[in-house]
Amino acid sequence: MGAAVLLLGARDIAFGATIIAVRVWPAADYTRVTIESDAPLVERHFLVADPGRLVIDVEGLELSPELRELVGKVKPDDPFIERLRVGQNLPRVVRLVIDLKQPTAPQLFTLAPVAAYQHRLVFDLYPTQQRDPLLALLRDKEAAEQKAAKAVQDSLGEFIGKVEKIEKGQAAQGAPGATPAGPNAGASANAPPAAPTFPSQGTPPGPQPTPPGVAAGPTAPKQTPSPPSAATQATQAKLDRLIVVALDPGHGGEDPGAIGPSGLREKDVVLAIALQLRERINATPGMRAMLTRDADFFVPLQDRVRKARRVQADLFVSIHADAFLTPKARGASVFALSQNGATSSAARWMADRENAADLVGGANIKARDPAVLRTLLDMSTTAQINDSMKVGSEVLGHIGKVGKLHKAQVEQAGFAVLKAPDIPSILVETAFISNPEEEAKLRDPKYQRQLVDALATGIKRYFAKNPPLTRQRTL
Ligand SMILES: [Zn+2]
Repeated sequence: MGAAVLLLGARDIAFGATIIAVRVWPAADYTRVTIESDAPLVERHFLVADPGRLVIDVEGLELSPELRELVGKVKPDDPFIERLRVGQNLPRVVRLVIDLKQPTAPQLFTLAPVAAYQHRLVFDLYPTQQRDPLLALLRDKEAAEQKAAKAVQDSLGEFIGKVEKIEKGQAAQGAPGATPAGPNAGASANAPPAAPTFPSQGTPPGPQPTPPGVAAGPTAPKQTPSPPSAATQATQAKLDRLIVVALDPGHGGEDPGAIGPSGLREKDVVLAIALQLRERINATPGMRAMLTRDADFFVPLQDRVRKARRVQADLFVSIHADAFLTPKARGASVFALSQNGATSSAARWMADRENAADLVGGANIKARDPAVLRTLLDMSTTAQINDSMKVGSEVLGHIGKVGKLHKAQVEQAGFAVLKAPDIPSILVETAFISNPEEEAKLRDPKYQRQLVDALATGIKRYFAKNPPLTRQRTL
């Protein structure tokens, strides 16, 4: 009897794991569920169809209030999770059932203790059909084109209405008299082929539909007032030659980035800046911004680079606001990739710190191809670094007008996120969040706006001076 009790006690110690926290990070790309515990957890899982659900059995666990909390953490708008249920399936086996909203390819993995985290069991729910960033960009572009085409059509309709009104008036006047010009002749003579008074001349027309009633109109000249074909072609060329800027707000999700003395998180402030910068860039004719993340979720470094390459970005801008060794450190810095070591020990320290993001944010190593980043680095060219230095100088110059600079030159180090061999790439440390004054500035919407202005101006100036080579974008 005594031995049995002792045995149970031993099992308690061997299998007991205490849940520390549970977190859910929903995003359109993927939803992550994290269970943090003080000992590693072992799981088994399987998918069940109709209705689709993921069943996960976690061993060595008793149902706890922390685990029950998970149920309430699922948001109604989660793209993947309909709801989550937990129950004690067997003694020491907790079963989680995730009811799925869409066909899902789950990835389950564990992460060893790092930074402020203990052991983590992670379930990443990816769509079976991955969201295609190129397609998203194309849809954006199509929506913009349709809007432009509709604007042209509307003003064309208005214009034709006016012409018809005038013609009707002329017809009424011209009918009784023997005026030299008949109604048709008058209309033809007054209708210039390219319609220079076209009300929407400045609006970019899309593919031109023939407005109903133009050709069929009784007074329409043989040559209908077609929209200016040169302008149409120019617009089309512009759409084909969109400058695509990949904006990369650092960290996210499980990786808060640096945290300021009063609690401001780097991941939140850099997302706020990137979202504003996206708006600014999208408002610029001929330019379009793509975000590597548009919400609070973690994107592994390699995926950030891959997303930018997928849309054939012309520029990659990673946005950060890190801490430094001393709270006194202040000012913005801009970094480019280095092939031959870092330009300063501070730059190397910063690159090491940023490159550790995957450990904190949690990347599924099994699903990564470790050769990819290595290959990317091998492919890195002097040309990419030269271009990155150019764009870096422009951006640094403009940031220097709105705030202090940490270093007056673009620095270089081996940042993993800057390793796209074919895209000029910079990493901007907007300020040191570890400095109380800079943290306050980063929090200030006015300063955020100034930063966004500086970044946007720097980027535009770079492209004005270095227009991207004309190449057929395969959108
Ligand atoms: Zn950072």
